[in-house]
Amino acid sequence: MRLATVRTTDGTRAARLEGDRLLLLRAPDVGALLASMNSTSRMDTTAALEATGEIVFADASFAPLLPRPEKIFCVGLNYRAHILELSRELPSYPTLFAKFASGLIGAHDDLVLPSVSNAVDWEVELGVVIGRRIRRGTLGQAHDAIAGFTIVNDVSMRDWQGRTTQYLQGKAFDASTPVGPVLVTGDEIGDAADLEVRCELDGIVMQRGRTSDLLFGPAAVVSYISQFTTLCPGDLISTGTPGGVGAGRNPQVFLEPGQVLTTAIEGIGSCVNRCVPEKG
Ligand code: ZN
Repeated sequence: MRLATVRTTDGTRAARLEGDRLLLLRAPDVGALLASMNSTSRMDTTAALEATGEIVFADASFAPLLPRPEKIFCVGLNYRAHILELSRELPSYPTLFAKFASGLIGAHDDLVLPSVSNAVDWEVELGVVIGRRIRRGTLGQAHDAIAGFTIVNDVSMRDWQGRTTQYLQGKAFDASTPVGPVLVTGDEIGDAADLEVRCELDGIVMQRGRTSDLLFGPAAVVSYISQFTTLCPGDLISTGTPGGVGAGRNPQVFLEPGQVLTTAIEGIGSCVNRCVPEKG
């Protein structure tokens, strides 16, 4: 199943992809839909997925897939090849930082380059969406708690990220992180264990990796985080990025107004975001 959150004249709605149509559901977004499906009986799940209208996928305006996650976690350095190319030791524990809901944008929204940063960079990442509440979960329980997968670009302001040893300020800018366009559930995509992840700038491939290279895979990260905080339906975990970011190039390359950033994952689709300057 493929789920999206789309903008309508009456606010956002969760939607289910059926062929080239998005069937509009009652829930206002995918996070609310997952929460309702988690708390109701199977019959209510059927009602939650019942169509109340439809729009053509190609005409849809996508909101952030999860407009209001209670928690958003990101994993730093998680692709083996990328860690080794940086001549670092493979870590024993995942590096984690957080983002806020205000940082998320839709899959086709303009990416506004903040006037206060000169080093806006890209990071294609597999996004894990939580479907069931989980606390202190085993690997198996973590696997069962994952609703499915989406695409995230953990757009990073490197000049701010590098000001201190904590990543947060370079990662938590308003409206900087594309998420979507769809959530692909586990029945369709399995464990997302070996998918190509790719980032293109104006059609030129900048990053290419495979999720099989993840040091801490989706279930491992979910299980680990659940040891210290409860994960809830609609929470989002971005699993880290492979090599090829702009800051790692010689010379360095950063995003400029007018460029188009494409963030793609095999079997899920792509986010396509045009870079625009901040007004005023
Ligand atoms: Zn990242």
